Amino acid sequence: MARTFFIGGNFKLNGTKQSIKEIVERLNEATLPKDVEVVLCPPAPYLDYATNLVSKPQVTIGAQNAYLKASGAFTGENSVEQIKDVGAKWVILGHSERRTIFGEDDALIAEKTKFALDKGLGVILCIGETLEEKKAGNTLKVVEKQLDAAIAQIKDWTNVVIAYEPVWAIGTGLAATPEDAQEIHASIRAYLAKKVSSDVAEKTRILYGGSANGQNAHTFKDKKDVDGFLVGGASLKPEFVDIVNSRN
Ligand code: PGA
Repeated sequence: MARTFFIGGNFKLNGTKQSIKEIVERLNEATLPKDVEVVLCPPAPYLDYATNLVSKPQVTIGAQNAYLKASGAFTGENSVEQIKDVGAKWVILGHSERRTIFGEDDALIAEKTKFALDKGLGVILCIGETLEEKKAGNTLKVVEKQLDAAIAQIKDWTNVVIAYEPVWAIGTGLAATPEDAQEIHASIRAYLAKKVSSDVAEKTRILYGGSANGQNAHTFKDKKDVDGFLVGGASLKPEFVDIVNSRN
């Protein structure tokens, strides 16, 4: 079964009205393959703005985080309902920066994932090991533990995309090799088959993230378990269009 190629653009805490307009307009004007799904994730203040700028049906907007309450006394948080209300369709959860800088653990991320899915928002669920964990040979142990928490909460996997983002590759310019990414992605898929079902394993998209860029994206092209990318730094630049087109 062919899984639709998926490219997420994680702007992180970057952007202005002007720069976000330029990014969206580049995509509006570009010729994109039909069978690709693009999700741009600007900072929360720009979700509504970006949603209104997008003109291609295959390009949608996502948030970078969401809380697990609909409303109430939670100063500084954004709810799934509000994200949906402004027209966004996805949310990134479990990003390593949320885990390390903001102390989010597997249980909270799994709970947020369940909450977002129940309310009809798609989830880009990020997992990945640190350099120390990789050096200790613990990559699979770490990603499986991160997955276990989510697996316990997710009932329907239709709107879940997994992003394998080794922490040592994020923002470092040192991407995993296509061969290494393929090996981990295949293991993640096998784990889903074992713990959830072969159907979910077959259908769930597994993205690679960590220094993906316009130069290296096409080198992952023949890796059958790499179903797209979650792109940070390069999503702010014109080369993002090359990543979206990297399977051509
Ligand atoms: P990067 O970030 O592409 O800048 O390495 C990826 C991410 O953090 O999602």
